[in-house]
Amino acid sequence: MYLKHLYLKQFRNYVEQAVSFLAPKVILVGDNAQGKSNLLEAVELLSTLRSHRAKSDRDLVWQSPDRSASMGQVSALVERQTGELNLKVVLRSSGKRTLLLNHEAQRRRRDFLGALNVVQFSSLDLDLVRGSPENRRLWLDTLLTQLEPVYDPMLRQYQQILRQRNALLRQFQEVGGREKPQQLALWDAQLVSVGVRLIRRRSRVLELLAPIAQAWHDSISGSREKLAIAYNPSVVWDGDSRSPVEAIEGAFFQKLTDRAIAESAQGTTLVGPHRDEVDFHINGTPARQYGSQGQQRTLVLALKLAELKLISEVVGESPLLLLDDVLAELDLTRQNQLLEAIADRFQTLITTTHLSAFEQNWLHSSQILRVQDGH
Ligand code: ATP
Ligand code: MG
Repeated sequence: MYLKHLYLKQFRNYVEQAVSFLAPKVILVGDNAQGKSNLLEAVELLSTLRSHRAKSDRDLVWQSPDRSASMGQVSALVERQTGELNLKVVLRSSGKRTLLLNHEAQRRRRDFLGALNVVQFSSLDLDLVRGSPENRRLWLDTLLTQLEPVYDPMLRQYQQILRQRNALLRQFQEVGGREKPQQLALWDAQLVSVGVRLIRRRSRVLELLAPIAQAWHDSISGSREKLAIAYNPSVVWDGDSRSPVEAIEGAFFQKLTDRAIAESAQGTTLVGPHRDEVDFHINGTPARQYGSQGQQRTLVLALKLAELKLISEVVGESPLLLLDDVLAELDLTRQNQLLEAIADRFQTLITTTHLSAFEQNWLHSSQILRVQDGH
């Protein structure tokens, strides 16, 4: 797929800006705080309806010391094999959004998601290895939503059930109850039913991604280091993602029973996909605690390259690659491996503060956009 045009209005520090992408490789160059990452964030938003940097839509809508807008928008024209798609997200500081696909309002997020696929790689992505398990769950969920937009409503439904179950457990904790409240059984059934759908998909996507990431990791590290990726679910069952639903449900109910007293005491749900973890091991040791900075970078690079391949295979079209400030963080060998892997196969938007980070042949074959103060 190919992003042809992007239009930003009252988005971050852009008051109004239209951009046309004329080459598969686009370098956004500019000093710090000019709007390079903001532009990538707009593309990310159109793809995932999320921003990894903003807490709320209020952060995304243009503000200045003397005036703040209450609305903003980002829109894009994307060329797909099946034809052109016009995407538009209208943002409001109130948080209410309007999603339009080919000028028609979409009520369901899932009908908008999947129109544009991106793989995002920023310096923050080292948190994928170093950070808390939440970072890894978010990464997995974002990837799954790209592969299968119907994952999005499932995840939201799960989060809703979790909130309600937690509220009930908390009420119960406040009155000092010792045994499991009766109404909890209703929420347990829902938690398990929706939770199992998430678990199976997470398990499956890691089964697909792991060999691709391992192959990339071998190639980057020169096969000296072996990467192992394992799904470490909160609910453990015998088997893999193809196990019957009943087997995973049974293990889920059992673990809820085992943890019932702890859940009542703590007033929160202790079992389920919201407690899942993904383990990365390099030569048998956990990359999170023991990996050097360089090893962690190689790992993230291998994961990102694997995402590109997996999305291409599943969706049947190559996703866009957004590289925010990463080149400077990679050594020359890794830089070259990344740039070679991209070649012209993936439309790539790269931010940089210095063009000297690129080799001449890259500069010659790229579109160079200068970003200055939201223009
Ligand atoms: P760096 O090279 O440091 O990463 P950058 O070009 O990527 O810089 P961005 O993060 O894209 O910089 O833009 C940062 C600028 O955007 C800051 O000046 C910030 O104040 C401004 N900004 C962020 N959110 C808003 C907003 N809602 N309204 C107006 N300006 C904003
Ligand atoms: Mg930036």
